[in-house]
Amino acid sequence: MPIIHCYLSSVTMPDTEFMQSIAEIGFHAIESRSLLGCDIKAEGEDMGKDTGWYNGYCWKERYNGKYKEMQRLIASGELPQAKGPCAICGDTDTKAGFEYHDEDYSKPYSWVEPAIYALCHHCHIYKLHQRFARPFAWQAHIAHVRRGGYARELKDPNIKKEVDAYRAAIKRGETPPALRQLRPYTKTIRKEWFADLRMDKASLKDPAARPRP
Ligand SMILES: [Zn+2]
Repeated sequence: MPIIHCYLSSVTMPDTEFMQSIAEIGFHAIESRSLLGCDIKAEGEDMGKDTGWYNGYCWKERYNGKYKEMQRLIASGELPQAKGPCAICGDTDTKAGFEYHDEDYSKPYSWVEPAIYALCHHCHIYKLHQRFARPFAWQAHIAHVRRGGYARELKDPNIKKEVDAYRAAIKRGETPPALRQLRPYTKTIRKEWFADLRMDKASLKDPAARPRP
C-alpha cells in the first residue's frame, strides 16, 4: 500500500484514492513536496497497479521509467532544464516556473514535442492534470489562454473573476461571457496540441490513449 506522509499534519496514511488524485496532478508536485506539504513513499510494487496512470501508462512506466531518466539527463546536462514559453499559456516569465510535461512515455524515449512540452507550473499542475476532476476549469483556462492570458495572471482578482464567471456559465450549460482580449493570440484556435486532449478518466488507463504503442 502506498504510504502518504504529510509534513503539515504529521500523519501517515494509506489512501489509494488520494494517491490517484496526486498521480493525476503530476510528479512534480510530489518531487517538490509542494502539494499540501506531503511526501509520498512507494512501497514495493504496489504503486502502479491501480494508481498513477496517465495516457495508458502505469506509474512504473511513468515515474520509475521516464521521469527518473529525465532527472538523470537534466542532472548530467544532456537535457536542458525546461524553459519558457509555456506551451499552453505562452508565458515567458521565469517566475512562472517551467517544467516538463510528458504525453508519451513509450520507449525509445523522446525528449521533444509532441512527447514532452515545457509548461508553467500552474498550467501543468493546476489545470492540465486536473482536467479530469475539474473539466470546466480546464475549458475556462483554455478560453483564458486564447484571449492571450497567462496562467499567473489569474492572481489578478479582476481576471480571476472573469474566468470564474466563464467557468460557471459553461458549467450551467449557458453561453459564457466573452473574455476581453489581453494580448494577441498567435496559435490557431482548436489546432493547439492541448485542444483535444481526452478528459475522460478512462483515458488514464486506456492503452489506446498512448501516442505510441
Ligand atoms: Zn502556462
